[in-house]
Amino acid sequence: MHNVEPILGKELPPHLLTTLRQSGDLAKQMGVVVCMVGGSVRDLLLGRPILDVDLVVEGNGIAFARTLGRQTQSPVKAHKRFGTATVTFQDTFKIDVATARTESYGSPAALPKVKPSSIDLDLARRDFTINTLAVRLNPEHFGQLIDNHGGLRDLESRTIRVLHDQSFVDDPTRVWRAIRFEQRFGFRLSQRTHKLIHGARERKIFSPLSNTRLFEEIVHTLSEKHPRKALARLAQFNVLGVIHPTLTWSPSLTALLRSIEQTLAWFKQDDAGAKPTKWVVYFMALMDALPQGAVAQTLKQFPLPAIQRKKIQACHTQSGSLLRRLASRSLHYPSSIYHLLVGLPDDTLLFLRAKSASFSAKQHISAFLRTYQHVEPSVTGDHLKALGLHPGPAYRRILDQLRDARLNGTIKTEAEEHGLARKLAKMS
Ligand code: ATP
Repeated sequence: MHNVEPILGKELPPHLLTTLRQSGDLAKQMGVVVCMVGGSVRDLLLGRPILDVDLVVEGNGIAFARTLGRQTQSPVKAHKRFGTATVTFQDTFKIDVATARTESYGSPAALPKVKPSSIDLDLARRDFTINTLAVRLNPEHFGQLIDNHGGLRDLESRTIRVLHDQSFVDDPTRVWRAIRFEQRFGFRLSQRTHKLIHGARERKIFSPLSNTRLFEEIVHTLSEKHPRKALARLAQFNVLGVIHPTLTWSPSLTALLRSIEQTLAWFKQDDAGAKPTKWVVYFMALMDALPQGAVAQTLKQFPLPAIQRKKIQACHTQSGSLLRRLASRSLHYPSSIYHLLVGLPDDTLLFLRAKSASFSAKQHISAFLRTYQHVEPSVTGDHLKALGLHPGPAYRRILDQLRDARLNGTIKTEAEEHGLARKLAKMS
């Protein structure tokens, strides 16, 4: 049997390795078997960074996690319904502990019935061979690789392969997962897996799937490093339409997604301010060419957080007129750009920047994100009070005029700003 102890030593940060050894020792003390499983083993063998680790315990996973938490003085959050718990280590990494379980599917696409079982059965319920690998952590077997389904062979041949022909019918979210992994790792689907996905939508395997589970997959896909490639692939398999039947792949959608990639990269490089919610910007793009009614229907059927639903809806309604105004030649002054864009969420601004075909419109949005939105007058309400002005609507008006003057460069120094404040206070 393959032993990956040297790889663990080479790839894992020392504190994580120590915690895995500690977990193995604890399992021995408790008389249970513990393994590192799933995505963390796959990523370890691919040489990708390991952020969090999944453990499976043949025994009581929650009791194991609680004892590990006590031993390492780390907080533990148990999810009793699922027999899982998360141990958080000094906020640097997390270990998710699960009780080994089997799943049986009463009806297609429904959540499975779950019962405690062995590590081997737990691995047999998984989606793809590359996610079935496990590493034993008990001290007498530390580092031994369990590879019951040819996961190592498929990692080496860069292949995504389901464990059985019923896999996508049992759980259609696996279609999204297959494509996500294929695109993320640059792997290929095995011939059989490809065949099983092909025509999946026509076979209506997605119909019984809940919108909540589908929505989770959409968000995961749109949060990938390169969502465009995964979306293109979903479109090839005619799966994109499960989001909404009128959603189709087109050259303009491809161009928009490409432009979003560039805009997000620009924003990241520039570190211009708050973090955008990447999946929301991509969702805006998917909705862009859809008619109002279809957008409203899509946003209603999925459990989007209210704030994101509102943002996407408003963006769809307003983007056309905003882009026209942004591209207008009469938009000269930074203060006019400021008033046009202030109050719009960063996600919307980034979407508009990506969507605009006008160079000057793009520049206006960039300038707003980078500079204009951060400009505040140094004069405050207290200064105006000291000038003898009674608090009221005049305050807002004067402060706005001061900011506009700052933005437009008609005043440049604090002294000039205080001078203008005195003048405006006298006039009101
Ligand atoms: P990611 O890097 O996207 O987090 P992951 O493989 O760690 O990938 P998770 O969604 O965290 O993905 O799932 C952890 C493990 O649980 C997977 O590696 C896989 O073995 C199993 N798993 C997750 N979802 C399914 C599913 N729908 N069907 C079967 N097994 C699944």
